[in-house]
Amino acid sequence: MAIKSRNPATKEVLKTFEPHTSAELENILYTADAAFAKWQKTLFDERAKLMRQAAQELRDNNRHYAKTITLEMGKPIREAVAEINKCALCCDFYADNAENYLQDEEISSDASISYITYQPLGIILAIMPWNFPFWQVFRFAAPSLMAGNVGLLKHASNVPQCALAIEEIFKKAGFPEGVFTSALIETSEIENLIKDDRIKAVTLTGSEGAGASVGALAGSQIKKTVLELGGSDAFIVLQDTNVEETAKMAAKARMINTGQSCIAAKRFIVEEAIAQPFMQRMKFYLEQMKRGDTLDETTDYGPLARPDLAESVQKQVNDSVAKGAQIILDGGQPEPESAYFYPMMLTNIPAGTPAHDEEIFGPVACIFVVKDAEEAIRVANDCRYGLGASIWTGNVPEARRLARQIEAGAVFINGIVQSHPALPFGGIKKSGYGRELSYVGIREFVNQKTVWVA
Ligand code: NAP
Repeated sequence: MAIKSRNPATKEVLKTFEPHTSAELENILYTADAAFAKWQKTLFDERAKLMRQAAQELRDNNRHYAKTITLEMGKPIREAVAEINKCALCCDFYADNAENYLQDEEISSDASISYITYQPLGIILAIMPWNFPFWQVFRFAAPSLMAGNVGLLKHASNVPQCALAIEEIFKKAGFPEGVFTSALIETSEIENLIKDDRIKAVTLTGSEGAGASVGALAGSQIKKTVLELGGSDAFIVLQDTNVEETAKMAAKARMINTGQSCIAAKRFIVEEAIAQPFMQRMKFYLEQMKRGDTLDETTDYGPLARPDLAESVQKQVNDSVAKGAQIILDGGQPEPESAYFYPMMLTNIPAGTPAHDEEIFGPVACIFVVKDAEEAIRVANDCRYGLGASIWTGNVPEARRLARQIEAGAVFINGIVQSHPALPFGGIKKSGYGRELSYVGIREFVNQKTVWVA
């Protein structure tokens, strides 16, 4: 089936691509494997020079690449430009730090000298989602390529132009052919790819279902995976916080990428003493969010990435309301088959409803009112996911104590959960396993080889 690039705001088909044939895919694998043979022997300085050139290419043409994102998946241009600049930052970060992160590490033992040396594995298959179509790819590619691996990208089928643009950026930066390639293929091809001996490991960012399937397949081939999956992050509001500021940040945290972020705050857990004013102010700030032309710098939110995504969020809301959840701010899909979804707030959400039990990947804020901090932690942990969480309070020492009790890969205190190249990123529970970014991320796809000398 042809792969279509479609503007979700207008439904216009922008471009159509034929998927790679089996022969083309074989050629891609052959070229990538041959590229690895040479790339693994390059020095860090050579890799860093090319990675800095990739960063420069991103910065020099940030609006051009941002527009590709905006038109293809509906992200407002201001956020798309920020995404491109963050990719450049990540390239520079690993150009600066990879060598240090992968230095031989001496460990004293019964040997005269013993150490760990970090060596690349080969072709790493990256299966990526559409929501941050550049960032998700660069946060994998910058460390992996700097470690001496080569990357093969299978991007989400609604962002083929982004996939090809990223391949082009690495080419323009001077990376040899095959060091980073985008394969335009359907999901059905993934099984054969994972079974191919030339693919050494797999990283997937996406839904729980896709993660389970890829993890099982890779497991059957004894290949390592990193899985970055869904999240339903708690945003815990304690009564000693500044309500006005926190409500403003809550609206912002829910509306990141029009609500389609794994680390967007999704469950707002609020101490009852301040619940009413908090909800009122959060509602106010959500209502202030400007919807409009996604290419306009002042637009805060656009459509979701596809109409079927808006439909499934609407269905989650309808099912939750039918079972007793109460609407505080009404919005939703303005008409059938629209990709737009206007912000909503729900409260009094019973267990057993999608708003309680599932990730809502769209601009719906679910409010849970609790008695005290202890109950807040219990509600935060009553969740199948464990990606991020934030605590908002005037008492930082107490928040640091509570942070230890939260079942998540990251806890932010008085700040919105976000990724940073220096800090490990990833989840526990159904949010996946393994870490990206930081020194932890670059060591996921290397042979951590022990060398022992008598
Ligand atoms: P998705 O449907 O799982 O798709 C992600 C990628 O996996 C796409 O390339 C997709 O290809 C592929 N895929 C889908 N089903 C597959 C299967 N059974 N086997 C192998 N590959 C498969 O996820 P999405 O809807 O694009 O993204 C939203 C989800 O990603 C949310 O749950 C979100 O929280 C999560 N996410 C997590 C992180 C994180 O860092 N933890 C970051 C961003 C997003 P096709 O497009 O061709 O189907």
